Amino acid sequence: MMSNRTLIAGNWKMNGDRAALAELGRIVAAQPNLSARCDLLICPPAILLSEAVTIAGSSVAIGGQDCHADPSGAHTGDIAAEMLADIGVTHVLVGHSERRADHGESDAVVRAKALAAWRAGLVAIVCIGETEDERSAGQTLDILGRQLAGSLPDGVTAASTVVAYEPVWAIGTGKTATVADVEEAHAFIRTTLTARFGAAIGCAVRILYGGSVKPSNAAELLGVRNVDGALVGGASLKADDFIAICQNAPQ
Ligand code: PEP
Repeated sequence: MMSNRTLIAGNWKMNGDRAALAELGRIVAAQPNLSARCDLLICPPAILLSEAVTIAGSSVAIGGQDCHADPSGAHTGDIAAEMLADIGVTHVLVGHSERRADHGESDAVVRAKALAAWRAGLVAIVCIGETEDERSAGQTLDILGRQLAGSLPDGVTAASTVVAYEPVWAIGTGKTATVADVEEAHAFIRTTLTARFGAAIGCAVRILYGGSVKPSNAAELLGVRNVDGALVGGASLKADDFIAICQNAPQ
């Protein structure tokens, strides 16, 4: 089976100011040397998106960290997917575990946001993952199955959708899932996608692993079967670390 092209995505979360965009400039400068290995995506805070799009040009994709489900309206503080698309953003994270926890986003809300992303022509990166308690209780695959069923709209294609598996207990903690855990979760996600959307689409949708990915563990994690890339939080804030992760993508 042909493997999917690797995507390395950086999620800056609520970090970074205008000066931090110099890190993006360094990633842009490194991109020609990385393009044989992977696609690059950086998701900075919303207030930096416009400037980030200008700096990134066509070499690094720029993504939002969230969008509202509606195209416009009385939703103070929110940003519509159409607004992201309007400034040249091409991707958006939906259902990140911090949004699910901090803002009580349910699978239904995440699904509506994914549909909004598609409506605006954006790629939706749909995030799923179990908590530590759920893993300890042996519920990991049940939770992933429920989140996939609830968060992914009908009509997924490989061009419109990326799935990010991020065990909540591994995000920002320095703990990473074992290769066996990652392999099991990604195989389950692949099987679930294939069962629902057919083999061609199910195999072509990229599945990213996220949770304390860093230069020292990137090669191992990116080498796991059905891992088509990484969603990187902390280690995406420094260009050197992000570039080193990309250099570990299988060629
Ligand atoms: C994330 O923000 O999605 C993430 C995985 O963070 P970290 O790499 O810091 O664990």
